[in-house]
Amino acid sequence: MRAKWQNSRAWKWVVNICRFMLGATFVFSGFVKAVDPLGTYYKIQDYLTAFGMQQLLPDIVPLLMSVLLAVLEFAVGMHLLLGIKRRLTTRLALLIMLMMTPLTFYLALTNPISDCGCFGDALVLTNWQTFGKNVVLLTCAIVVFITPWNMVRFLTKKMEWTLSNFSVVFALVLAGYCLATLPIIDFRPYKIGNNIREGMEIPEGAKPTVFDTRFIMEKDGVKQTFTVDNYPDSTWTFVSAETVVVEKGYEPPIHDFVMESLETGEDITDEMLDDPGYTFLLVMHRTEEADEGYIDLINELYEYCQENGYKFYALSSSSSEAIELWRDRTGAEYPFCIMDDITLKTMVRSNPGLMLIKEGVVLNKWADSQMPDEYDLTGKLEELPLGQMKKVNDLCTLGIVGLWYIVPLLLIILIDRIFNKKNNKNDNKLIKKSMRKKIVAGNWKMNMNLQEGVALAKELNEVLTADKPNCDVVICTPFIHLATVAQFLNQDVIGLGAENCADKVKGAFTGEVSAEMVKSTGAQYVILGHSERREYYKETPEILKEKVQLALANGLKVIFCIGESLEEREANKQNEVVKAELEGSVFNLSAEDFAKIIIAYEPIWAIGTGKTATAEQAEEIHAYIRSCVADKYGAKVADETSILYGGSCKASNAPELFAKPDIDGGLIGGASLKCADFKGIIDAWKK
Ligand code: PEP
Repeated sequence: MRAKWQNSRAWKWVVNICRFMLGATFVFSGFVKAVDPLGTYYKIQDYLTAFGMQQLLPDIVPLLMSVLLAVLEFAVGMHLLLGIKRRLTTRLALLIMLMMTPLTFYLALTNPISDCGCFGDALVLTNWQTFGKNVVLLTCAIVVFITPWNMVRFLTKKMEWTLSNFSVVFALVLAGYCLATLPIIDFRPYKIGNNIREGMEIPEGAKPTVFDTRFIMEKDGVKQTFTVDNYPDSTWTFVSAETVVVEKGYEPPIHDFVMESLETGEDITDEMLDDPGYTFLLVMHRTEEADEGYIDLINELYEYCQENGYKFYALSSSSSEAIELWRDRTGAEYPFCIMDDITLKTMVRSNPGLMLIKEGVVLNKWADSQMPDEYDLTGKLEELPLGQMKKVNDLCTLGIVGLWYIVPLLLIILIDRIFNKKNNKNDNKLIKKSMRKKIVAGNWKMNMNLQEGVALAKELNEVLTADKPNCDVVICTPFIHLATVAQFLNQDVIGLGAENCADKVKGAFTGEVSAEMVKSTGAQYVILGHSERREYYKETPEILKEKVQLALANGLKVIFCIGESLEEREANKQNEVVKAELEGSVFNLSAEDFAKIIIAYEPIWAIGTGKTATAEQAEEIHAYIRSCVADKYGAKVADETSILYGGSCKASNAPELFAKPDIDGGLIGGASLKCADFKGIIDAWKK
């Protein structure tokens, strides 16, 4: 049972706002990670180092983790935004937030890593900001987890897997492409078009970072720490020194770009940045890990630079031994400079990667697989498009990549709308069905004497009072039972009705029982138009019309039966027949009176024969009957009219029949004569 507040409008708004906030954050986070999987890989390595676990895992593990994280976040985000696999998605989102929030709290407290890397380099947050953000997201995750069904869906269930798989494949392909080449959007300070020197500048008036150097000194086996201000005398021996940040000031985006010649030890940063000509920088943060598949291309490029008077430096953070090894293995003749490892990884993600610089401005960047070859370098750089600054428009790139996702997404939604329209209609029908009364009515016919009938009514009364039904239950008995049964029947649980009433108000009509008399017994319902009465007692549409009016005038609710014979069904005339029966006896009523009519569709060939209409056959004609009511009285009245099925309905076939959107219960003959059989049918509404 759902609590009332869970279905309130306000709560639904809260759930959907939370779902969009959470979804959008996950998508953004997954997308920026997929754009730069190596960035996340380096971040995961930082975490592993901080927790002393780096040696435990082979390098491929953090790389796989980086790609998986990007895919997971993107897919969970899209699932939340589109409302697909709601239960699973909200559980996953909560699980992720339950893991991330305490972790980021720990990071904020202990600061082993300066930024958590949640949004890659696209948006750098401090650890406390990250924790605050996660507290908000965790709250959203809890809200959507409580009532996932309140998330509005944009797709039917049928297309959910298609979209799930598509989101996963999209994020995988994006991450794979960016891994094989370079991030398609560069969020780092060495972006094409950026001036490195400008990136190193500290604006006027900005607070500089304050450092302090601590000296560890030793005397008589005792170690002590000193600063420049209290540096001890020469009786102390120097052990080590460390520089610590006392106060963090403004840190320019580029703060550690220093090129030191391997050969001379000279700092050539300024010389390189001020050079008016072209400089190629071959970036290999670790030569030991660099891909050797491109050595010929690199050597050719160096030769090209030599011939044309361009500078060429290889930059690495590897030891001189490792660089010597690289030279031996590859025949490299180009000069090497030593640079900080993180700076190199930030400059170009690929190892090796290439950067073209002129007067300190980044003109172009290439991953190893994209490096220019002899077919590109056909002349002087000054005359080649390659020598000009590459045009980059991040918004345009984002738009193109977005289209690769959005166009198929829209197609999926369109296909879903077209092909699952019928199902959507059924979904709507089921919602409308829940607005109508579900009814199971028994028609005892001419069975059972007074004692037998009373015994059955008593048994039913007990059973259904103890185990409350999920629908309205009515028993329609012969006249002789009504008054007695009405005395003890718990009419909150079981309604009582007659099987017939006269077409006259009162008077000399020997053997007849009027609607008023029925009502006076305590009954509230009456069956009219049953096929047996139409056939054996020649009740015509006109007679029935009278009976209906009298019944309604006396406050009885009418269960009005319609249905075709076997010949009519075989001649495919069932629709015609039921429509004529409605028009003949009940469509003359006002909308207000018609609202007191319960229709029972009973194909004559199925009554008491053991033959049941299939659930599909029954649904088809029930939908047709409803459409006739809608044509006559409008959609609202039609949606509120209960239409029961009758004809060899039993506990075994009732669930299938009642599951149909236009079948609102049953009128039961034979199976209403035994408590257990009848209860079995009533319980079909509990399935
Ligand atoms: C009936 O006569 O209303 C009826 C549906 O009978 P049975 O269930 O026995 O087919």
